[in-house]
Amino acid sequence: MFGPKSHLAARNDHLFLEGRDCFFLARQLGTPLYVTSESRLRENIRAYHRAFPEADKYFAVKANGNLTVLRIAAQEGMGADVFSSGEIAIARLAGMPRERILYNGNSKSERDHRMALEAGVRMSVDSREELEHLAKTAQAAGKDAEILFRVNPDVSPGTHPKIATGLRTSKFGIPAEQVSETYSRAMDLAGIKPVGLHCHIGSQILDISPFVEATRKMMDIAKDVVNAGGAIKTIDLGGGLGIQYHPDNPAPTPADLAEGILPVFQERCRELGIKPKLILEPGRSIVADTTIMLTSVNVVKRAHVNFVAVDAGFNVLARPMLYDSYHHVIVANKAGKDAKETYTVVGPICETGDILAKERRLPLLERGDVLAVLDAGAYGFSMASQYNGQPRPAEVLVFAGEAEVTRRSEDTSALLAGQNIPARLLR
Ligand SMILES: *Cc1c(COP(=O)(O)O)cnc(C)c1O
Repeated sequence: MFGPKSHLAARNDHLFLEGRDCFFLARQLGTPLYVTSESRLRENIRAYHRAFPEADKYFAVKANGNLTVLRIAAQEGMGADVFSSGEIAIARLAGMPRERILYNGNSKSERDHRMALEAGVRMSVDSREELEHLAKTAQAAGKDAEILFRVNPDVSPGTHPKIATGLRTSKFGIPAEQVSETYSRAMDLAGIKPVGLHCHIGSQILDISPFVEATRKMMDIAKDVVNAGGAIKTIDLGGGLGIQYHPDNPAPTPADLAEGILPVFQERCRELGIKPKLILEPGRSIVADTTIMLTSVNVVKRAHVNFVAVDAGFNVLARPMLYDSYHHVIVANKAGKDAKETYTVVGPICETGDILAKERRLPLLERGDVLAVLDAGAYGFSMASQYNGQPRPAEVLVFAGEAEVTRRSEDTSALLAGQNIPARLLR
């Protein structure tokens, strides 16, 4: 029933995640609720280690910033790809070593640069302009900044336009033709130590060929840099490997990715006589399928379609609204029952676009049923908001049937946190 998702099973019509009954867990802890399988998380990381034994893997923290998830990733030997000084702090707290943290970003302030220099993490520099800003800040701080250059390789990943990041027209990276010159400039700048190249072409990519094309382009640029006298110690090819959200739309594995890019990478390194460290930055393919989001049915409304109104909307899981994403839905307390009706699953938010799942064949539904929205571990909680006065939900980790809360749910006080009515308005 669940294909490769070995951490999910159905027994007596109930959905189980790593041996835990999801319906009773929802009853016990309340909904909405994010539930993560620890074993699945570790397995996903190990699949990358097996496919790329010599590469460093940096977990993309924006996909899932849960401290416990990051702790497990650190235990499994991952570093972190971070995009803000806040994410640097979280990654360090989780135990990721500073040498394996790369600070990316196309819009870093002087304060961000200073924090990264103090934290001693490497940075990916996104423009010639940022290079000059960073050099000044590093000189003033009396530090040397080890940097990679974020390259815009101009590759089309065939994914949703909002998550294609390596197109010529995207805001990310230095245009390929400017890289070698910028690298030479960096070698002359006090306070700057360029060590390599970096790209990230997009997310939820289901075809290996864009990765192969990006690898080729990166190696072409590496050649220019080497010919201009630059040393390339690191090549970071980013993340972006897709996962199987839809039962009919399988995704390549880390092993497939390795089979596509490693021969190109290795051969081109041999030709150039260089031995750079390869880095990958997977986010989604590490966490997405580890986690389900449980949500309770409040109302089943027969209107021009059958609406199932649940207690989680795009405030809890934004992907369907943002990217028209498909997430598979299972009824956690009717998992083995036959599909009887077509339902559209909507959330509690006051917007027409608040649709979690369109036109799904499901067993007959009623108030109190619990739906499990699958593959919610990446860009799920990390994009949750308090829109419409909705506190954010709890996160739970399950290991061998035992559930532990890793982030408690917010209550109304979280909505008020930090707010203050000026005293003159209280008179
Ligand atoms: C978002 C991001 C990633 C992770 O992408 P996934 O599609 O989740 O694997 C990696 N690197 C950078 C620079 C990113 O912005």
